[in-house]
Amino acid sequence: MIIVMSPKATPGEIQTVSERITELGYEPHLIQGVERTVVAAVGRDDKSPLQAMETMPGVESAMPILKPYKLVGREAKGEDSVLDIGGVKVGGEHLAVMAGPCSVETREQILGIADAVKAAGAQFLRGGAYKPRTSPYSFQGLGLEGLEYMAEARERTGLKIITEIVSVKDIDLLVEWADVLQIGARNCQNYSLLSAVGDSGKPVFLKRGMSTMIGEFLQAAEYIMSRGNYNVMLCERGIRTFETSTRFTLDLNAVPVIKSLSHLPVIIDPSHGTGHWNFVTPMARAAIAAGADGLMVEVHAQPDRAFSDGAQSLLPAKFEHMMSEVRKIATAMGRKL
Ligand code: PEP
Ligand code: MN
Repeated sequence: MIIVMSPKATPGEIQTVSERITELGYEPHLIQGVERTVVAAVGRDDKSPLQAMETMPGVESAMPILKPYKLVGREAKGEDSVLDIGGVKVGGEHLAVMAGPCSVETREQILGIADAVKAAGAQFLRGGAYKPRTSPYSFQGLGLEGLEYMAEARERTGLKIITEIVSVKDIDLLVEWADVLQIGARNCQNYSLLSAVGDSGKPVFLKRGMSTMIGEFLQAAEYIMSRGNYNVMLCERGIRTFETSTRFTLDLNAVPVIKSLSHLPVIIDPSHGTGHWNFVTPMARAAIAAGADGLMVEVHAQPDRAFSDGAQSLLPAKFEHMMSEVRKIATAMGRKL
C-alpha cells in the first residue's frame, strides 16, 4: 500500500503517518518525490487496515501497490530516481560510465587503466578483486590486495570504485573499500547476499542473471530496497539464448521495459553482453539511444594478456573512441555525459 501525502503535508504529519504504519505492523518506507512524499507500507499481505489512513491529516490517498516489486516499481515513485554517489549523479539527465578491467591484476595495470578511463570521461573505475569464475582453476582475484590498488587509483584520479561482492563473508571489507557494491549475474538471485548489501546501505549495482526474467530481476532489486537501501542501479549484461555468435544476447528490450516498470537507473554492459571487443561500441551507442542511464565497459591495456575477459576488453584508445561516439548519441538524447 502507498500512502500519498498531500504536497502541503508537514514533516510532523509524515512522521505521524510513518508511526501509524509501524503500529499497524507494517514497515514504512519514505519515498521523496519532487512534489510530494509517498510513504510505502510493506510487509504483511492484508493491507485493509491501512485504507483508513486516508482520513489522517496531510494524507491525500491510500492505494494498493499491485506489482510484486513494491519499492522498485513506478507505482511507488513515478519519477526517475537520480542517485548521488559521493557527488556523482546517475539517472535523470545524468549518464554514468563505469570502465576498467574485468579483474584487478597488478598495481601498475589498474593505475594505468584508471588514468586512461578518467581521461576519456568515465566517472567510475570498475575492477574485480573477488571474481566469480566458472572454473575453480581460473584466476579468482587478488582479494584485499586488489582493493588496495583500487583505492590507490581512486586517490589518484578521483574516480569512484565499483567492485563485485561474491560472498556475504566479505561484506565488511567491501563496504570499507568500495563506493559501489556490484552483484554479478551469477548472484542476481542470491537472496541472502541481496539482503546483506541492502542492510549495508552502500550503493548497489545489480546485474541481471543470464536467465533471470525482468519480473524476477525487479524482485531481486526489491530485496535490497526492502532493507531501506534505495541506492540501486540495474544492469542488463546479456541473457542466454540459442545464439552462439556472441557470448550472450544483449537484451536492449530490457531498457524501455524496465524503465516503464521501475524508476531505478538502468545501465548496459555491452562487454559481457557481446563477448567481443569489436561489438562493444555499436551496442554502447544503441544502449544510450534506447534510453539507458549509463554503461559498464571492460578496458584493458593488453587484452591478449588479460587474466579474464580479454576478448571483450577495449584498448584504452578504443574506449576513448567509444566515448566520443557515445557523447554524440547522448547529446542527441538530451543527456549529460
Ligand atoms: C564482471 O562484471 O566482470 C562480471 C563477472 O560480470 P557478470 O556478472 O555480468 O558476468
Ligand atoms: Mn568480466
